[in-house]
Amino acid sequence: MAGRVLVVDDVTTNRVLMAELLERKYYDVEEARNAREALQKARANPPDIAIVDVMMPGMNGYDLCREMKRDPLLADVPIVICTTLDTRDERRAGIEAGADDFLTKPVRPVSLFARIRSLLRMKAMTDELRLRDETLRDLAMEGFSPSALEPPPGAHIVGLTSAAGAGPLKDMLEARLDVRVEIVCEPRDTFRLLEASAPEAVLVDALGFPGFSSDFCSAVRQQSGGRHAALLTIVDVDDAATAAACLDAGANDYVMAPVDPSELAARLRTQLRYKAYADFLRESVRDGLKQAVTDPLTGLRNRRYLDAHLPRLVSRAREHRQALAVLAFDLDRFKAVNDTFGHAAGDAVLREFARRLTDNIRTVDLAARLGGEEFVVALPDATLETARIAGERVRAAVEAPGFAHEGRPIPVTVSVGVAGLHGPEDDATAMLARADAALYQAKQTGRNRVILEAA
Ligand SMILES: [Mg+2]
Repeated sequence: MAGRVLVVDDVTTNRVLMAELLERKYYDVEEARNAREALQKARANPPDIAIVDVMMPGMNGYDLCREMKRDPLLADVPIVICTTLDTRDERRAGIEAGADDFLTKPVRPVSLFARIRSLLRMKAMTDELRLRDETLRDLAMEGFSPSALEPPPGAHIVGLTSAAGAGPLKDMLEARLDVRVEIVCEPRDTFRLLEASAPEAVLVDALGFPGFSSDFCSAVRQQSGGRHAALLTIVDVDDAATAAACLDAGANDYVMAPVDPSELAARLRTQLRYKAYADFLRESVRDGLKQAVTDPLTGLRNRRYLDAHLPRLVSRAREHRQALAVLAFDLDRFKAVNDTFGHAAGDAVLREFARRLTDNIRTVDLAARLGGEEFVVALPDATLETARIAGERVRAAVEAPGFAHEGRPIPVTVSVGVAGLHGPEDDATAMLARADAALYQAKQTGRNRVILEAA
């Protein structure tokens, strides 16, 4: 199914026409005759998008919109307001009520579907990011949504327009929003600025460029500095086709010319908010996941990651009929380092050991600190002998050059146990246990040596 759409209109004919239009494009449609019914149905089963009529008896479309944006369960549902009243005040009222978009009846299918696709794309992105992190899911339940975020002050906006339009556009935006506008008059210059500064938003006045096409929007999206920017176009009121093509090419919104400054400002503010929200989600997911799997002292993976990942390496090795080996490391007499030189010195030794360790293994190898002075490296596609050589290389790199902290030399050596993956009964836990037993042997037989698992 393309997506679930809730259509809210008090006039039966309007609902039926809209439903038919949507169903032809394989959207799953639910109808509501008024705002109350809409809230009921949306709460029972939140839609992917809502198309809401303004003039309805009882609660009107704007109030429904506000109500939905206040409800944590529904705050993320994009809302398109639909009305016959095509005035600037109406459009502004819709956007201020939190509507994500505004269409005029009779609705042109090309605009309708382009809007829906663009809004669903954004919703899919935020949904996906949120699903990946429990904290974010909790935040969403506490009502954290784009409308709760103010766009960052002094947001950097790149405006592409004709030489004649440059001054007016800059003044128009800076008078209404807390933004810093940089104007360019050549499409190519936009890319230079994107490269240099990754602006919060890009606003393109298509009217200034005869022959302008949606390819420009695709190009902005392909550039790293433009991938996550809010992208808006200004198109001629008669050129719905270009507007729709731009949305499909990755633009977030458009404004029809002649431009109503307040509408442009309101739409830009909405998009800046969405961008701030998406940035927040992306950062949280990235940092949240990173923290969860990283040892903060050394930057290596932690035990939790190793426990989750080693079984996967085992299955992969079986699947591809490849070898797999593990090395278990333990710094010799590390307690004495802490006792004699202090914990700061001990931490410095652990960090330096981690550095030498990663310098002496391959990038495909997985290095983890289990805690204290214990480390494990998993070596995909490595035989016992290859692993022994790698272990020996690390042991030698630890032995010399020596370690020092604040000018005082510290004696550091490491013992190493090696184990490989064997028959079909073998698994990650058993392999680690054998590497540990070999490590124990290394300790027993004088330390600072590499010992293979018992044959
Ligand atoms: Mg109505």
